[in-house]
Amino acid sequence: MTTFRTLFSADPEGTWAAPGRVNLIGEHTDYNDGFVLPVALPHTTRVQARRRDDSLLRLHSTRGGDEITTLDLDKLEPGTTTGWTAYPAAVVWALRDAGHAVAGADLLIDSDVPEGAGLSSSAALQCAVATAYNDLYHLGLDGMQLALLAQRAENAYVGVPCGIMDQTASLCCRAGHALLLDTRDLTSRQVPLDLEGAGLRLLVIDTRVKHDLADGAYAKLRAGCERAAELLGLAALRDLTADALPAALDRLPAELRPLVRHVVTEDDRVRQATALLDAGDLAGIGAVLTAGHASLRDDYAVSCPETDLAADTAVAAGALGARMTGGGFGGSVIALVHQDDADRVTAAVTAAFAAAGHALPRSFAATPADGARRIA
Ligand code: ADP
Ligand code: MG
Repeated sequence: MTTFRTLFSADPEGTWAAPGRVNLIGEHTDYNDGFVLPVALPHTTRVQARRRDDSLLRLHSTRGGDEITTLDLDKLEPGTTTGWTAYPAAVVWALRDAGHAVAGADLLIDSDVPEGAGLSSSAALQCAVATAYNDLYHLGLDGMQLALLAQRAENAYVGVPCGIMDQTASLCCRAGHALLLDTRDLTSRQVPLDLEGAGLRLLVIDTRVKHDLADGAYAKLRAGCERAAELLGLAALRDLTADALPAALDRLPAELRPLVRHVVTEDDRVRQATALLDAGDLAGIGAVLTAGHASLRDDYAVSCPETDLAADTAVAAGALGARMTGGGFGGSVIALVHQDDADRVTAAVTAAFAAAGHALPRSFAATPADGARRIA
């Protein structure tokens, strides 16, 4: 068995864990300065870590074969690290670039967050490393500061123009809650989400269709939104209200209209869902989730046949609502169900995938969990 001691000939100084996430609602709103409402999963990426006196970052992932990758922090250049080691390297690069005097480390990474499934295994990896460094080097950074660093790492070093949601969810979520985040001013609020108490379950259906956010589609959508905001004379699409939407659409070229419609209505759906949760009407958000899926499918065009089939089948089998979660082009679907309906909905989705000739999905129930923390 791979242990820290066999890899690095010493014991770790500690172990840190950061979760993957699902987003209840608010997809593709974060890079438009809008609102998001994510929930941390019980699934985590763990990092066992030990400081080094030199500038070497030595990395091993239980997912990455046998080898140890050694990188010299003094020689890191944005865009030059390939493969998974770019994520941890990016975090340490961003820390140093922000002026934190951190040296190297030996890191052993292990995870049960499904990869490339829209559940943010990349942010879990980054945030576990960031949290470990924060403690090991006594940096005293809070969750939001670490989230900004991890986002900068992904934008500037890995080269993915992601928003701030995934990193904030992985660092700042709390068990039993969803996190309402205003991605413009970065204020946030824990919104109680006692699914068990309401007799509900949040199913996550991983369609096993791999997306690849680095492939340019995401960057193209983001650029389209920024162009639309510019044409409308707005700082960001967040500044367009639902009331002003119809008139604004008339002023835009046809190809940008559906993007803008999705972002504005989606931001409104975050407000609706939050109001329902605040009022204790957890079941009520089902319809908001389903409307969100239609918008991602018809306007933003980021769903795929498998996510559509999972969402539609779940609702037809009795789910209160269902939608794809994550950036799209595959990945996972969430379905809000009454506890008694969970098995029936899961079975119906599996049967529909089998009938359509798709690889069978993996499903699990998500209990809202805690964000990144030291676990040993
Ligand atoms: P998602 O974040 O939705 O899972 P991404 O494409 O953003 O999908 O990130 C997946 C990438 O993150 C993987 O291809 C790999 O490079 C990296 N990664 C995630 N978890 C691990 C892990 N446990 N070990 C090594 N690399 C990982
Ligand atoms: Mg990711």
